[in-house]
Amino acid sequence: MFGLKAKRRAKLRQRPFPDEWEIVLERDVPLYRRLPQADRDELHGHIQVLLAEKRFEGTAGFIVTDEVRLAIAAQACILLLHRETDYFMTLSSIIVYPAEYVARLEDQDENGLVWEEDEERAGESWALGSLVLSWRDIVEDRDDPEGDLNVVLHEFAHQLDAENGEMNGQPPIADPVLRSEWSPVMMEAYEKLGRQADAGRATAIDPYGAEDPSEFFAVATETFFQDPRRLQAVYPKVYSLLVRYYRQDPASWATGGRGA
Ligand SMILES: [Zn+2]
Repeated sequence: MFGLKAKRRAKLRQRPFPDEWEIVLERDVPLYRRLPQADRDELHGHIQVLLAEKRFEGTAGFIVTDEVRLAIAAQACILLLHRETDYFMTLSSIIVYPAEYVARLEDQDENGLVWEEDEERAGESWALGSLVLSWRDIVEDRDDPEGDLNVVLHEFAHQLDAENGEMNGQPPIADPVLRSEWSPVMMEAYEKLGRQADAGRATAIDPYGAEDPSEFFAVATETFFQDPRRLQAVYPKVYSLLVRYYRQDPASWATGGRGA
């Protein structure tokens, strides 16, 4: 990350951050309200880069306003603080629906029978190029700041995961010690969540994380920021792993989450 791109980004990060934008973030992004001031300043720079580099598109009649762009960019950039970053390099556009949207899936059984199935989605993330979000879900997460759901963090965590070409729950990690600890810690917790979900027991984090290791990483990321004390209490090893990966300790921020 040297040369022209780095220079262009350094310049973007130094752009003055408009007061109106800060007001919007204070109002619309509960996590922003909890961030330490130094992190907010760093975040402002990252937001400038993301807004300049990514295309935001409304679809199904949805109009993307500055408020929409800011709410999405701010939450995505929280994942980039304190780290060297290439700003979700494989991502070029963020597509926003007004609400949950229906994806038509086609499947085929071993006899060649093809059927179609409709699935309602709040967001999705592709390894190459695009990410889709439902604005209504973003607003619902915002209006439940104590809850552990955050669709923006979820989909952008998938982007980090995919940066090594595969969405498998293991993002690229420079530190060899952290990299070697990653899989055993995450898999143990993933399997535990799976056993609880299969047994129909109440799970301490969103049981959607039991779908596969990449969903576990995305759900753990949501809980890490939204309800850090809960994650720390139920999956302490996952929590400390994520502290080292994200280089942040959200449990030390001003209050947030319902706790364990
Ligand atoms: Zn997911």
